[in-house]
Amino acid sequence: MTAILHTGDAERGALWQEIVAREMPGTDFRCWPDVGDPADIRYLIAWTLTPELVASLPNLEILFSIGAGVDQLDLSLLPPHVRVVRMIESGITNTMAEFVAMAALSLHRDLPFYIASQRAGRWDPQDVLLCSERTVGVMGLGELGRASIARLSPLGFRVLGWSRSRVEVPGATCFAGQDEFDAFLGQVDILVCLLPLTDDTRGILCRDLFAKMPRGASLINVARGGHLVQDDLLTALDSGQLLYAFVDVTDPEPLPDAHPFYGHPAIFLTPHIAGVTRKETAVHSLIANLRRELAGEPLAGEIDRGRGY
Ligand code: NAP
Repeated sequence: MTAILHTGDAERGALWQEIVAREMPGTDFRCWPDVGDPADIRYLIAWTLTPELVASLPNLEILFSIGAGVDQLDLSLLPPHVRVVRMIESGITNTMAEFVAMAALSLHRDLPFYIASQRAGRWDPQDVLLCSERTVGVMGLGELGRASIARLSPLGFRVLGWSRSRVEVPGATCFAGQDEFDAFLGQVDILVCLLPLTDDTRGILCRDLFAKMPRGASLINVARGGHLVQDDLLTALDSGQLLYAFVDVTDPEPLPDAHPFYGHPAIFLTPHIAGVTRKETAVHSLIANLRRELAGEPLAGEIDRGRGY
């Protein structure tokens, strides 16, 4: 017996159960807590894991993450042979690219400045630059970094990209590895973080990095809260090294009441909504992966568990 178990949002589970039944008749798709015989479960769909859940599924083969990242899952709970697949789907990709374009354009056209001027009753026009006079740097050139570049580049921005290994991305000049990191940062007016959270990238958005950017640059963190050293951001904003920050992800989420980010005039805080898994589209990515698995083909989004992404 081979069954799929969906955990988390019950409404999403019911919808996916109905769509999988229609598209892949005969598939045994179960929704928590109706697990049936746990020994049947080969595939698990989850946003987070608990030790009890993992221990209860002796024949688990593949974990499908609801999210584009996997850092929210404690993968150490899983036996080494269990494969882990992150979500690649058009809903996340499009909403992320839209958000990055919105934030970059807002910074480019000084929207934070004009909102503050309006509130203070000031009429204070500034010089206007063209997008071609502004450099946006994207850290992380995976699914979401590339999709964001595909939105930024047609707007006319000068776009730079940086990743671990060397790649070519249409619309961007790309840098690779630590050796080229400083040259990348030194040119960036608006820095977008779209890295996965790993041991190598935790805390990467810190004082040292901000100091390597031109004075008055801005930050858009849409990756994970763990990338950012919060106190270093506050110091960089208060000193003028950074001008503004769009912060969509924090550690922890939500931030505690009275956290300084809530009231900071140069921080634009959103509650982890930049790239959103849309249940209507994500189910089709899941189905495509289930079909690949049945056909013995590689899965889209399978991570390297050793590398963490
Ligand atoms: P991805 O396809 O796995 O791409 C990761 C990119 O980061 C690759 O270009 C990779 O380079 C690069 N990278 C990894 N480690 C690096 C390092 N140490 N130094 C330099 N580059 C490194 O990931 P994705 O789908 O684009 O997603 C990126 C992240 O976005 C997710 O992990 C998640 O945390 C975040 N996210 C946020 C939201 C939100 O709503 N805010 C929504 C979805 C996802 P190589 O390929 O060369 O290794």
